[in-house]
Amino acid sequence: MCGIIGYCGPRRAAPILLEGLKRLEYRGYDSAGIALATPGCTTAGEGADSLGVIKARGKIKDLKALVPPDIAGTTGIGHTRWATHGEVTDANAHPHLDGTGDFAIVHNGVIENFHQLRDHLLAQGVEFHSETDSEVIVHLLARAYQGDLVAALTATVSLLKGTYGIVAMYRGEPGRLVGARNGSPLVLGIGQGEMFLASDTTAILGHTRQVIYLEDGEVVSLTADEYATSDLMNREIRKEVDHISWELESIEKTGFTHFMEKEIYEQPEAIRRALRGRLDREYATGHLGGLNLNSRELLEVGRIVLLAAGTSYHAGMVATYALEELVRVPAVAELASELRYRNPLVERDALYFAASQSGETADTLYAMREVQRKGGRVLGICNVVGSTIARESDGGVYIHSGPEISVASTKAFTSQLAAFYVFALLMGRMRHLSHDQGLRLIEALEAVPGQIEAILAHTEPIRALARRYASCEHFFFLGRGINYPVALEAALKLKEVSYIHAEGYSAAEIKHGPLALITEETPSVFLVPRDGLREKVITSMKEVKARRGPVIALAVEGDQEVARVADEVLYVPEAHHLMYPFLLAVPAQLFAYYCALERGCNVDQPRNLAKSVTVE
Ligand code: GLU
Repeated sequence: MCGIIGYCGPRRAAPILLEGLKRLEYRGYDSAGIALATPGCTTAGEGADSLGVIKARGKIKDLKALVPPDIAGTTGIGHTRWATHGEVTDANAHPHLDGTGDFAIVHNGVIENFHQLRDHLLAQGVEFHSETDSEVIVHLLARAYQGDLVAALTATVSLLKGTYGIVAMYRGEPGRLVGARNGSPLVLGIGQGEMFLASDTTAILGHTRQVIYLEDGEVVSLTADEYATSDLMNREIRKEVDHISWELESIEKTGFTHFMEKEIYEQPEAIRRALRGRLDREYATGHLGGLNLNSRELLEVGRIVLLAAGTSYHAGMVATYALEELVRVPAVAELASELRYRNPLVERDALYFAASQSGETADTLYAMREVQRKGGRVLGICNVVGSTIARESDGGVYIHSGPEISVASTKAFTSQLAAFYVFALLMGRMRHLSHDQGLRLIEALEAVPGQIEAILAHTEPIRALARRYASCEHFFFLGRGINYPVALEAALKLKEVSYIHAEGYSAAEIKHGPLALITEETPSVFLVPRDGLREKVITSMKEVKARRGPVIALAVEGDQEVARVADEVLYVPEAHHLMYPFLLAVPAQLFAYYCALERGCNVDQPRNLAKSVTVE
C-alpha cells in the first residue's frame, strides 16, 4: 500500500516522479503529492527558498494538472497515499514539511507511537499541519539534523515504533535523498548518473534494471552518482545489486482496457510459467529448487500449515484439499492476521507456507516471523522476486506470474495453485502416489492452461450473464469440497470490483442459515463440476430453486442435468477433479469484471482498497 518514489539526477524530476506515481497508483490512490528541491517554488512551502510541495487529494492525474509542466528541480520525492491516519484531504497528503519548510518526507506505513511523539513535539511548540501519523517524522528529522542527513534520519527512526518506508530530503543538500525502512518495502534503483528510490520496482523499471533491496533496519543515502547503505548504528553495509528481469510491457495494459482484464487473460501463460521446469515425467514428480529441504526432511513433514490473507488465503484453502488428498498429511490454511496473535503452537514436524503475491503483505510477514521465532520452518510462495517474504522465508517457490497490477488479484490465485500443486505432487510421490498417478496428475496440470484458453475464447455468455444480473445487490456463491474456497474467492472478486454484496458458502451450509436470505432478487451461483459431490450440489440448487432464488450454475460441458435445474449455465471443459478450482475461478473472475463494467466501477482502483497490503 502507498507508493513512494524519489529521484536524484541531471533530469527534471517532476515528470519522472509523476510517471513513477502513475505506475504506483495501484498501491494507493486517495491523494498524492511531490516535493522538489526547487528554489523559488512556493506552492505549499513556507517561503521562497523552501522546498516546493504540490499535493492534493484525488488521483495522479489531478496532481499532474497542478504541476507546472516546466517546473524545475532535479531532486524530488513523491507519494501516492492509502490513508491510515487522518482523512483523505489535501493537508494529509504527503509529502509533509517541517515548520521551516526545509525538510520534506514521504512515508509508507504506520507509526504506532505517533501520539506520544506528537504530544512531545507539541509541548516543544511544534505546529502540526496534518492529522497523519507520518508528520511527526519530518519534525523529528528537522530537530535531529546537525549537518548530517543520514545521521538525522537514523536518530529519527530510532524513536519510531511501527512500520515505515521513508524517503526524506533537505533544502540545504538539494542533490541528496535519504531513506530508511522497517516493514515497508524500499528499493534503490541505480541508473546512469541518476538514482531512484521507490517502494516498488514498477515505478523505476522504465529507467533502470539495477536495483538494491533495502532490508529492515537499513538506511540509504543517494546522490546522482553515489549511494551508501548503513545500519542503525551508522555502520556501512555492502549490498548486492540485483537485476530486474520483468519487461516494461508487463506493467502496461498492452491493448486491454484494464489490468484486471489483462491479468485474467494472462493466466494460461502465467500457469505455464509457474509449472515450467517443475514437472518431471521421468519420475512422475515435481521439482522445486528453492525449498532448501532434502527428501529426508520432506519425509518428516507431518502437517502443513498455509499462512495467507485475502485471495492467497483462498488459494491456500484450495491447496489444503489437494495436499490432504495427494500427500495424506493434515493440511490447514490459516488467516495470517489471526494466527499471529493466537500464540500459535508450532509443532516440530509442521511445515509452513507464507503465500503472498507481493511478498510484502504485512499480516503474512508478521505471522511468518512469529512462526520462525518459535523455531518453525516457513517457505514462501511469492510472485515478487526479492520481496521481504521471499528473502526472509527459509526457502520457497516463486510463481513467476509477472507483475500483478490489478488490485483484485486473479493470475496470482491460479499461479499459486499451480505452485502448491507441484509441491503436492512432489510430496505425494514421496509417499502414496504411484508413478502412474503422478503422471496423470502431470498431464492434468499441463492441460489446465489450454482449458483456460478455451474458456477465454468464449466470454460472451459470461458477459451476457453479467448484463442480466449486475443490478442485483446480493449474490451467493456456493461450492463444495475443493471448490468451496473457489466460491469464497468468487464472492470476494465480485465484492472488490463491483461493490455487490456477495457471500461465499459451502453449498451444504446454506440450509444452516443463509437460505433465509434467498429471494427472487438474490441469485446463487453454484459451482458444480463433475466430482464426487456433484449430486449433493444439485440437491442444494434445488433447495434454492424451491425458494424462488435464481440459480446460476458453473458446470462441465454437456452436463444436461445441471442445465435442467439451473436458470442459467456457464460451461467449463471437463478436467481432472483437482483441476476444477482453476477452471471455475476464471469465469467467476470474468463475471466480477463484467459486473463491475456494467455498474461503471473503476475496476483497477476499487473503492477503499489498494494493492499489496503493507499495513496490519
Ligand atoms: N500512515 C500514513 C498516512 O496515513 C501513510 C499511509 C500510506 O502508507 O499511504 O498518511
